[in-house]
Amino acid sequence: MSAIPLVDLRAQYHHLKAEIDAAIAAVLERGQFVLGPEVDAFESEMAAYCGTRHAIGVASGTDALELALRACGIGPGDEVITTALSFFATVEAIVAVGARPTFVDVEPATYTLNPAEVAAHITPKTKALIPVHLYGHPCAMDQLLPFATAHRLKLIEDCAQAIGAEWNNKRVGGFADAGCLSFYPTKNLAGYGDGGMVVTNDDAIAERIRLLRVHGSRRRYTHEVIGMNSRLDELQAAILRVKLRHLEEWTAARRRHAERYTRSFAAAAQQMTLPRERPGYRHVYHLYAVRLARRDQVQERLAKRKIETQICYPSTLPAQPALQPWGISARCPVAESVTNDLLALPMYPELTPSLIDEVVQAVLEGMRSR
Ligand SMILES: *Cc1c(COP(=O)(O)O)cnc(C)c1O
Repeated sequence: MSAIPLVDLRAQYHHLKAEIDAAIAAVLERGQFVLGPEVDAFESEMAAYCGTRHAIGVASGTDALELALRACGIGPGDEVITTALSFFATVEAIVAVGARPTFVDVEPATYTLNPAEVAAHITPKTKALIPVHLYGHPCAMDQLLPFATAHRLKLIEDCAQAIGAEWNNKRVGGFADAGCLSFYPTKNLAGYGDGGMVVTNDDAIAERIRLLRVHGSRRRYTHEVIGMNSRLDELQAAILRVKLRHLEEWTAARRRHAERYTRSFAAAAQQMTLPRERPGYRHVYHLYAVRLARRDQVQERLAKRKIETQICYPSTLPAQPALQPWGISARCPVAESVTNDLLALPMYPELTPSLIDEVVQAVLEGMRSR
């Protein structure tokens, strides 16, 4: 029996040690550390990967969302519709630009923004939609895209958990106005520190973000607008360039692991809900998350066997203490029930079939015991 982490960052480093060490050394030798040739090259490679005209490196996924909102002209007085189930950064960005979040419940099949419930939340103030491709499965873009167009809403995809996920054979990020990526160390494409990116096909949005990320300045010491300091650094870009070359093989491995989990749990599928991949969509399994009764008991049992799991998320966004002063009410029974019984199991490319089998055994035992 071995300890099985949720994500194994050291295993990945050891696989790529020679390439990564060389990339870091090259940056240190060059002596240019913020927005240099590595960032330029990484931006071109990412634009090609995501199938977008532009990719702009920024300091984090959270900043990517805030910058995308600002570049789309969203601000005080505007309402932005998003999902009730996500990492807090999604709503933080909305509040940071002075807009008001409106929460919509998730679909039971994919845990992503339920397109059937969006219409009921539109008001004359609604200006944008931020769907989150949660756990690696894209939102129902087939319905959200025409909806956003019909209502003249800006549509910003939160792709932090879903790089390389697809709908209609197209990768997420480039479907509408902007796509926001995070390179936080536990994401599918991860740096060794913070990093993020906005991808877009819109020249004006790209230019605006390039201006905003460096203090609103095009020419040194001339500031056209109030911007921020949100730049990707050369070390992260150099590391991410090495890793990007392996991303497709890692995604393929995640999908194989997910298949093995799903096959192994088939006999217990009456007692648990397994992740699903909607036809026409490609899941990249940032997380392999199952719903099960007595979730906390199972988690405890796995912890005793040194198998790490995570509850994503223990609370819906509208229930977060920080949002209470806004008095935002939201009816989101599906998201609420997910917070009570969803558990993310170990998932990373370097997992092996025997480690997966250990996790499966431990989960099944945990479900059986009283
Ligand atoms: C990680 C994450 C973010 C924020 O990314 P950071 O790089 O950590 O700022 C935003 N949205 C979602 C859904 C995330 O998972």
